[in-house]
Amino acid sequence: MKRRSDTIRRRSRIIAALLRWYRNNGRSLSWRNEKDPYRILVSEVMLQQTQVARVSTKYPEFLRKFPTLDRLARARTSEVIRTWRGMGYNNRALRLQKLSKIVVQDFGGKLPENIEDLQGLPGIGRYTAHAVACFAFGQRVPVVDTNVQRILSRLYPQRKVLPILQTAEMWALAEYHLPRTNAHDWNQALMDLGAAICIAAIPRCELCPVKRLCPSAHMKRQRAARPPKREPSRHGIPNRIYRGKAIEVLRDLKPGGSITSSALARRIMPEYTDQDRRWYLLLLQNLERDGLMKLRGRTRISLPD
Ligand code: SF4
Repeated sequence: MKRRSDTIRRRSRIIAALLRWYRNNGRSLSWRNEKDPYRILVSEVMLQQTQVARVSTKYPEFLRKFPTLDRLARARTSEVIRTWRGMGYNNRALRLQKLSKIVVQDFGGKLPENIEDLQGLPGIGRYTAHAVACFAFGQRVPVVDTNVQRILSRLYPQRKVLPILQTAEMWALAEYHLPRTNAHDWNQALMDLGAAICIAAIPRCELCPVKRLCPSAHMKRQRAARPPKREPSRHGIPNRIYRGKAIEVLRDLKPGGSITSSALARRIMPEYTDQDRRWYLLLLQNLERDGLMKLRGRTRISLPD
């Protein structure tokens, strides 16, 4: 009984300390002042795989071009890809536009509030669905990204074999810590703590608002060595780099312009030889399948319309 009340007290103190810290130290990010669900969704999709600093500059530009979901749905795909320049992982732009078309067609142009409906849309996983539900629709739901996972793992270090909490436990713990009100600030506070203080390499525990409540504070820790990521590559360079280069070349063409397949090959791989041909054709096929480029006739290539 006592143990349970200690746990509840500790939770309340963690929540209070972190919310206090957030009020004084939270990052000022333009999308945090947004109320429009579409704009919040755009920021979340951008933040999936791109650093905050880069998103901060691209976000206003993207919204100037596509200020509403409806405008994005009606835009030319080539224009969406061009505007995504500098963000990487171009498939996200395509999925965002696909999502906008579905929302216009099936939801009357308004993003659904229901988490299951959100998760059924292209490019929206569990994290993004919860982020939109909380930040755009004010729902009291947890939002668990890698920052939040790391903080929870350190606040609740496991004594079991597994060094970190598993996903289901993570979401349950995050839910357990949701304050009765102000889930928005709480979720943002966790992310900011993870970005600035409870960082992956060596956490800055001396600055942490919950250091007195954290069993991992000041622990000497070695970062677990991550196994190298295996991904398809050519001459030691991952295919995704060649894909990105190809899209960059196509973006630089004037609207409606195209380039020959052989010229594109030399642009993305200056040392290209006939031995690379099979690999290159497969790369093009995949780009076309993903909707990121279009073959014009037998040999010319452009962005999709
Ligand atoms: S005390 Fe250190 S390890 Fe614990 S949450 Fe704060 S920064 Fe992370």
